[in-house]
Amino acid sequence: MRDWSTMPKAELHFHLEGAIPVPTLWELIEHHGGDPVIKSPQQLVDFYAYRDFAHFMETWVWMNTFLRTYDDFEFAAEAVARQLVEQNVVYVEAFFSPSDFRRHNLTRQGIALAIRAGLDKVPEVEVPLIVDLVRDRGPEGTSATLDAISEVAGDARVIGIGIGGYEAEHPPELFVDVYRKARDRGFRLTAHAGEAAGPASVWGAIKTLGVERIGHGVRSAEDPALVEYLVEHQLPLEVCPTSNIRTGVVSDWESHPARTLIEAGALVTVNTDDPAMFHSSLAGEFRVLEEIFGLDEETIKKISLAPAQASFAPPDSKQRLHDQITAWWD
Ligand SMILES: [Zn+2]
Repeated sequence: MRDWSTMPKAELHFHLEGAIPVPTLWELIEHHGGDPVIKSPQQLVDFYAYRDFAHFMETWVWMNTFLRTYDDFEFAAEAVARQLVEQNVVYVEAFFSPSDFRRHNLTRQGIALAIRAGLDKVPEVEVPLIVDLVRDRGPEGTSATLDAISEVAGDARVIGIGIGGYEAEHPPELFVDVYRKARDRGFRLTAHAGEAAGPASVWGAIKTLGVERIGHGVRSAEDPALVEYLVEHQLPLEVCPTSNIRTGVVSDWESHPARTLIEAGALVTVNTDDPAMFHSSLAGEFRVLEEIFGLDEETIKKISLAPAQASFAPPDSKQRLHDQITAWWD
C-alpha cells in the first residue's frame, strides 16, 4: 500500500469556495458577527452533511454568504492554497463562482482579482482559475458573468469556463451561445454534466457546447454508447468519487459508476470537488481507488497522471507535471 499523502498530486475539479478549511470559514463567520444556528467549529463540521443534492446546494449557498468583502476572498483563497501545499497538491484548476456578488456590492472582476491575490501568496502550488458561470443564472446571467470576467482574465489567470448548479433544471442546450463566445475568446471549456442529470446532459455538453472535459460525467455509465464515445475520444472525465456519495448522487460505494468507466478505459481523473464540505482530500480519493475500488497499481498510476494529460495548461507545464508525478512512482 502506498502513502498517497506523499505523492505530488493534481486535480481539475475543485471549487475554491467548497475548499475553504473549516477553521478559516469559522473565522469569517465570527468576523461577520456569527450565525444564529452554527455556534462552534464542531457544529460547522456536523452541518456539512447532506440529505441529498439539493440540500448540499442550499448549504453551499449558506456558506457563500460569509464571503462579503474582497479581503474575505483573498483570505480564503490563501488558506485554500496553503492547505493544498500541506497535502502535496502541486497543480489545481480551481472553479470559483462569482454569482452572489451583488449582495455586498462586489464586482465579479474584483472577486476574481482578490482570489488571485490570495493564491499568489502561495507560489508553491499552481492554481489557474476556471470561472463557474452558474447555470441557474440562465443564458443571460452566464453571458454577463463571462463578459465581466473576460476583462480581467489575464490578470486573474482565468483560463476556462464551466457551468455548475442545478443541472437537471438547466440543460446544456441553453448555453450554446455563451460557450461559443467563450471559445472565441480563448477560454477552455468544461461543464458539469452527468452528475445530477443523466446521459442526455453529457451528450448535450459534448454535442452542443463542444466541451473539452466533462465535470463528473459518472452517470455516463448508464449509456453504453456514451461510454464507447468517451473511451474512443478519450474525452477526460473529472470524476469526484467521494462527492457523489456525500451528495447522494450515488447511493453507495458498491454501485459507484466510476469503476465501470475506469474499467471501460475512459480517461478518468479523480478530484475532490468541495473537500472542506465533504470532509475529503485528494489523497483520500486515491485510497478509494485502492481500497474500495480495488484497482491495481498500474491503473492507479494512470489515473494519477491523467491530469497532466487532461489539464488546460500549456504543453511544457503538462510535461513538467507528468515528470514530477512519474518520478514519485519510480
Ligand atoms: Zn463541481
